[in-house]
Parts: sequence; C-alpha cells; structure tokens
Amino acid sequence: MIDFRSDTVTKPTPAMLQAMQQAEVGDDVFGDDLTILALESKAAKMFGKEAALFCASGTMTNQIAIKVHTQPSNEVICAEDSHIYKYEGGGMAFNSGVQAKVLKADRGRLNANQVLQAINADDIHFPKTSLVSLENTHNRGGGSVYTLSDIKAIKQVCEQHHLPLHLDGARIFNALVTSGISAADMGQQFDSISVCLSKGLGCPVGSLLLGTSVFIKQAKRVRKILGGGWRQAGYLAAAGIYALEHHIERLADDHLKAKEIEKQLQTLAWVENILPVETNIVIFNIAAKHNADEVLAHLLSHQIKASKTSPQSIRFVTHIQTTEEDIQLLCKTLENF
Ligand SMILES: *Cc1c(COP(=O)(O)O)cnc(C)c1O
Repeated sequence: MIDFRSDTVTKPTPAMLQAMQQAEVGDDVFGDDLTILALESKAAKMFGKEAALFCASGTMTNQIAIKVHTQPSNEVICAEDSHIYKYEGGGMAFNSGVQAKVLKADRGRLNANQVLQAINADDIHFPKTSLVSLENTHNRGGGSVYTLSDIKAIKQVCEQHHLPLHLDGARIFNALVTSGISAADMGQQFDSISVCLSKGLGCPVGSLLLGTSVFIKQAKRVRKILGGGWRQAGYLAAAGIYALEHHIERLADDHLKAKEIEKQLQTLAWVENILPVETNIVIFNIAAKHNADEVLAHLLSHQIKASKTSPQSIRFVTHIQTTEEDIQLLCKTLENF
C-alpha cells in the first residue's frame, strides 16, 4: 500500500529507532527524564522561547494553550476551517468554556484588518476576546503558508489590544522550509506555539508547546489535569530530537513531490481545480461528472490510499516515506482514471 492520506502515517526510520532505543529516560512527572528535558530546551531555543512542554498530541498542545490564555465565556478568534475549531472535538468549549469567533479566510489565512474587526468592544453584552490563533501551514487551506509581514501585521493588532497570539504550528517546519523564514523570526511573533513532531518530521508520537517560562509552568499544570503527565516518554522525545536534527531540511523533497502531483493533476480533464501547492499537501476538486469516492476506489484498486476532504475533493499528503516511484505510480494511476 502507498499511503497519501496524511503525513501522520509515517513510521520511524531505522536511525530514529536506534536513537529511541538508546535514550536515557526517567519519570518525567518527577522531572527525571533527561531526554525530554533536552528536547524541550532544544525546541524552545530554536524558536527563541524560554520554555517548552512535550505532550502527546497537537490537539493537546493547542487545547492547553487555549486553556492557559483564556477564562470561561471568552472568545477565541480563528479561521473557520482551523483545526482548533473544526477538528478538536469542540475541545475549546469542553476544556476551557470558551467559544470561537470564526472568520472566513483566504485558504485559512487571516489578515490583520479582519482580526481587528473581530475584536469585541468592551461591553458586558459581548464575550471578552482573549486570544487570536493562526494555523501555519493551513491544513484545510491545502498547506497554505503565511508571509512574515502578514503575521507581523496581525501581531501588531494583537499587541495594541493586549491579546495573546497563538500559533497552531502542526506543520510549522513545512512553512519555514518553503518560505525561508527562520524559526527564531517565527517564534518572535507568537506568545505560544504548538509544533507537531508526528507530522512531516516523521516521529511516531509527540508535540511541543512553546512559550514563556511562566506560561509553560501553567501549561504543565493543565497537562497534568488532562492526564498528560507521563513517565519514561524520553523514548519518544529521543525521536523528536533526532527529527529536529535530521528531518527538517528534507521537507523540501516532500514539497517537490507534492508539486509533481499538482503538475499531473493540471493535465487531467476531470480535475476541476487544484489549491496551489505550497508545501506537502495537495487538495483538488473533481468536476461534476465524477466524485471523490469513484476516484478513491480507482486509486485503492492500485494499492494507493488518499483521503476525501468533501464529496468532490481529495487530499494527497507527501511525507518521509513517499518515494519517487510512489509518485510515478500515483501519476500514472490518476492518468488512467
Ligand atoms: C494534526 C494537526 C494538529 C494536531 O493533531 P493531533 O493529531 O492531535 O496531533 C493540529 N493542528 C493541525 C493544523 C493539524 O494538522
């Protein structure tokens, strides 16, 4: 099987497994796991943040951030297709008692003016706006990437209104590699950052939350309450350290492969339109004569898995285990549909 459903389907490489096996571990609730501490300080340093917290998932890091930044009844500004709103099970209501103000956005990317317009006036009728959250790259936006100047403009609005700015950076390294922006420059724009190790970086498990020492101290308390305090998770942290050292630059290969898929799709009459490929995600619409189920069934009959993002649209995601042969086979199979 060739799996284009997501960059979460990867398995550790032999070298990553070896790093995991050799990890020095301890009880992290006691603060004894040196590998976790090393991962947290490495990631914090990369993004110019004071501290980090290693967690089980990106949903957990996002949800902890929302909890620490808000009080019940508050409002969080985000894009309508954002992961925190659409794919976290209503977690912001469940965990934090807050609601989302969702904005229509350009492939998931907000702009400073719409953020400004969405901030509620100081009036007891309105929920208090207490957080703005951006997603970069944007999943539903087809791996779309923010420019640094757009982020800076949003940051400025947030500062003027004393609002913290959170980054759902599940695929932030894809954004950094494609835009050439440094982790430090990106880190400077946000009060908190969630980073997934188990997406493009190819780790089996894990995400990091980054912020100030004070913020991370509070985050650690919330993680414990959620049942996320863990023990010898240094075996997983070792994969994270390995990935931060060896799997970032190679993301450019995933992006090139996604571009090859885009190029093939552009030649096919049954493809209505494709979201311009910027990173490792390809989302396209199928013209009315056919639908996503038919295309997926055809692909599956050639041992290829992909995912449906709507009745008329399909997503391919390239990742560390996608080979050039996989791309050739996919392109040929698409051509034969
Ligand atoms: C995958 C993802 C997350 C986190 O997902 P988990 O499966 O909980 O690790 C958060 N945001 C975005 C945009 C994602 O794609």
